[in-house]
Amino acid sequence: MTIQAVLARIDQALPEATDRLLDLLRIPSISTDPAYQADCDRAADWLVADLQGLGFEASKRPTPGHPMVVAHYDGPEVAGTPHLLFYGHYDVQPVDPLSLWDRDPFDPQIENTPAGKVIRGRGASDDKGQLMTFLEACRAWRAEHGRLPCRLTIFLEGEEESGSPSLIPFMQENAEELRADVALICDTGLFQSQTPSIVTMLRGLLGEEVTIKAASKDLHSGMYGGLAMNPIRLLSQIIAGLHDDTGRITLPGFYDGVPELSDEMRAQWQGLAFDHARFLGDVGLSVPAGETDRTPLEMLWSRPTCEVNGIWGGYTGDGFKTVLPAEAHAKISFRLVGQQDPLAIREAFRAYVTAQLPPDCTAEFSAHGDSPAGQMSVENPAFEPARAALTEEWGTAAAYVGCGGSIPIAGYFKTYLDMDAMLIGFAKDDDQIHSPNEKYDLQSFQKGIRSWARVLDRLTTAKG
Ligand SMILES: [Zn+2]
Repeated sequence: MTIQAVLARIDQALPEATDRLLDLLRIPSISTDPAYQADCDRAADWLVADLQGLGFEASKRPTPGHPMVVAHYDGPEVAGTPHLLFYGHYDVQPVDPLSLWDRDPFDPQIENTPAGKVIRGRGASDDKGQLMTFLEACRAWRAEHGRLPCRLTIFLEGEEESGSPSLIPFMQENAEELRADVALICDTGLFQSQTPSIVTMLRGLLGEEVTIKAASKDLHSGMYGGLAMNPIRLLSQIIAGLHDDTGRITLPGFYDGVPELSDEMRAQWQGLAFDHARFLGDVGLSVPAGETDRTPLEMLWSRPTCEVNGIWGGYTGDGFKTVLPAEAHAKISFRLVGQQDPLAIREAFRAYVTAQLPPDCTAEFSAHGDSPAGQMSVENPAFEPARAALTEEWGTAAAYVGCGGSIPIAGYFKTYLDMDAMLIGFAKDDDQIHSPNEKYDLQSFQKGIRSWARVLDRLTTAKG
């Protein structure tokens, strides 16, 4: 079986692959800081040269910010063999405070730790180490077969850590060139640092700020208290009413478009044996706070939320002041799932607040973003073979998982290029991405490369 030969080559060539990664890590491509502009450029050049060496037609493409790297490989046109796009990013986070690093963040080294060898340096995990897993898989495949297995497009961004300002315009302007059958994104982690997974659900986000206005000026609570409405009391009542006793959100129509988990997905999530006591225990908590009839993983991944992120009003300085304030404020956000419509929920929230105001009080609202949830269709024929490949490599059943936060790039592929994306990554929870002493386990690097080789094999070899 030829995949074994590719895997053996990956294992045998790991030292050279590691050296190449160390080389890339030495380039301080901090995208947010203009002082590193030339370095970002240099990282893009490094990748263009590496991809050309792998047989790609690769180029650095200008944007108003840092360049994109786009590369194409015209593989064999075999019916049923997909055209794959791979996405990663070559820019990294700033490194300060430098004093908290045990070594120069851009002088990476292999370190021995009690948990095994790690590659230490900024970008080791996020995302240079991860993106190189795919390039190294291509290298080993090509060395073994003399060519790559299918048509491939590589798309590497240099602004991911600074808000991706050029990404959507670039996708729109180059949609024809970038469109493929499925996108592979390597910028996520193993579930609980050990189980390979494909992220298929990403929660959306809606943000609202509300100001309740009562009296025309701040009042003295001795003079007016009891007769005049306190807007903090009103706001507290309104906020308290957003959840019922079972943790359900009370806004009319809020659960429209919230899908139930399929039995298949429920079984996969049960198989993950999520230790919510440990997860909460790590942050000093123990009691799940979501809907009482839902499992902890559902609360995190497949159920919507309503959270108050900030609340203020009146006197909050040192000492005490018996003020009856004129205004009270709150910032409230909703994590959304499935087909929930952010704009309909915004309207429902505003109507709910307004309906509770006495005639002498008013509410003002300002919007802070609205992005729908992302749902990858696992019916795309690439998903099951990829999951099988991951299961095979890691020796533990890979799962489709959710992600409580948002990973905008996956949604962009869907929205702007009409492509499903598979988020597959090998980072661990303790990789300290964005923090001092970032690392990537050498084992993650090696098994990551092997995983991609297996994914390529499963997606491009007809299985009898
Ligand atoms: Zn990243």
